[in-house]
Amino acid sequence: SYGPAPEDPSIVHEWLASRPDGFGHFIDGTFTAPGTTFEVQNPATGRVIARVTQGSAADVDAAVKAARKAQPAWADLSGHERARYLYAIARHVQQHARFLSVLEAIDNGKPIRETRDIDVPLVARHFYHHAGWAEIAVDELPWTEPYGVCGQVIPWNFPLLMLAWKIAPALAAGNTVVLKPAEYTPLTALAFAGICAEVGLPAGVVNIVTGDGETGAAIVGHEGIDKIAFTGSTEVGKTIRRQIAGTGKGLTLELGGKSPFVVFADADLDAAVEGVVDAIWFNQGQVCCAGARILVAEAVASRFEMLLRARMETLRVGDPLDKCTDMGAIVHPVQLERIRALVEQGKAEGVELHQGSAPEGCFYPPTLATNVEPASVLSTDEIFGPVVTMTTFRTPSEAVELANNTRYGLAASIWSENVNLCLDIAAQVKAGVVWINCTNVFDAGAGFGGYRESGFGREGGREGMMAYLRHPAPSGPAVELAR
Ligand code: NAD
Repeated sequence: SYGPAPEDPSIVHEWLASRPDGFGHFIDGTFTAPGTTFEVQNPATGRVIARVTQGSAADVDAAVKAARKAQPAWADLSGHERARYLYAIARHVQQHARFLSVLEAIDNGKPIRETRDIDVPLVARHFYHHAGWAEIAVDELPWTEPYGVCGQVIPWNFPLLMLAWKIAPALAAGNTVVLKPAEYTPLTALAFAGICAEVGLPAGVVNIVTGDGETGAAIVGHEGIDKIAFTGSTEVGKTIRRQIAGTGKGLTLELGGKSPFVVFADADLDAAVEGVVDAIWFNQGQVCCAGARILVAEAVASRFEMLLRARMETLRVGDPLDKCTDMGAIVHPVQLERIRALVEQGKAEGVELHQGSAPEGCFYPPTLATNVEPASVLSTDEIFGPVVTMTTFRTPSEAVELANNTRYGLAASIWSENVNLCLDIAAQVKAGVVWINCTNVFDAGAGFGGYRESGFGREGGREGMMAYLRHPAPSGPAVELAR
């Protein structure tokens, strides 16, 4: 350890040990008895830390029925009453912040510095923000009504934060939910269910069903669900879109990305180097909007590369509970193998690799790939690991062309001291989110979502609220007013 003692995880281990037979689901306000269970591992140690129930079609059905039963009364509450529940959830998340941060670090492998300073505070922020929307939605978003029951399926890279992005707006809008966390990281969702019980949220408003893709498919296919919100891979997103075609269900998809990180010659290069650290080495690069392709002006490329490689050497990879760790474990050995295989493929194509160091186990070193052709697998495919490519450009229009040379369009980051140039480039880059002289900045008040194969729909802010409301065709005088 480099400095302060590692975070003491006993508070979490006691909670996990209290369920020796495993965790059940959270349906209709109570935890069910565990059924057929699967193992959940701490990726940093490889140890099994819990057993969690594989949700069956019958479990999903029970959850949807509970959500359906609860929905009319939930929607009938005044906005103020719904807001009080959301505020209470936000406060309880803050009260349990340490527990949730440690649990997330153990379950996912991400460093405690991130769970403590980013994931958990943003979760609370999301509930506070949407409590505000619950209060004002009637006035601000007239001629809308909740969908009813929302089925929500989330990935493993930000388990609790993705849950908050899904549940907070859905509840604020008057929907009830059935949410399935990812099979690698179901534990903070179950802890969150405990918080729902603690604040006295009416039974059935939030239901958590654990399980794998089959459980997810059962949610997507259930007739009693009115809207699906999915965050995950582009491949599964396409499957879901096909599965619900013609059913009339609402749908939002937040999918993959391969975001450009554009550095112009006049950029503050030291700041841009720190930007790369946040863009691709945050959360081990397992970030949908990670700045995975550095495009740097030829004039400063060699200096930038030198600075970046020096900084990369200083990154500390290891124990997620060590407060000085910069990069923790990769979420699962399967993901680690996937990253390794893609990098090997890149190597075979002639890509040059520069790597920091990483301990044995489910860890991968921070990696910079140079001499990368636009057609290389490392340029085209989402690696979802701490691997960034670097390519040079000569003119702003070439930078735009390279930035848009992708099937994705989730985010982009632009670095220059010339704000007019930044704004001009931002308008030409096909991405749902464009950051200028910063990266991976999230706010509950700002819509987040993609273009093209990164999905559609927005989460956060007004657009995020609208995604959880139907807009029935106004009739009579309202038609005139709406126009
Ligand atoms: P994944 O698509 O494999 O799994 C996501 C979730 O879908 C999991 O809960 C999984 O159990 C479930 N699932 C799998 N098959 C299903 C099916 N047929 N029907 C319904 N549900 C199914 O993705 P992942 O590997 O967990 O996550 C990584 C991906 O998520 C990356 O591509 C990343 O870019 C993307 N992601 C996107 C965003 C965003 O906001 N755009 C945010 C985070 C992650």
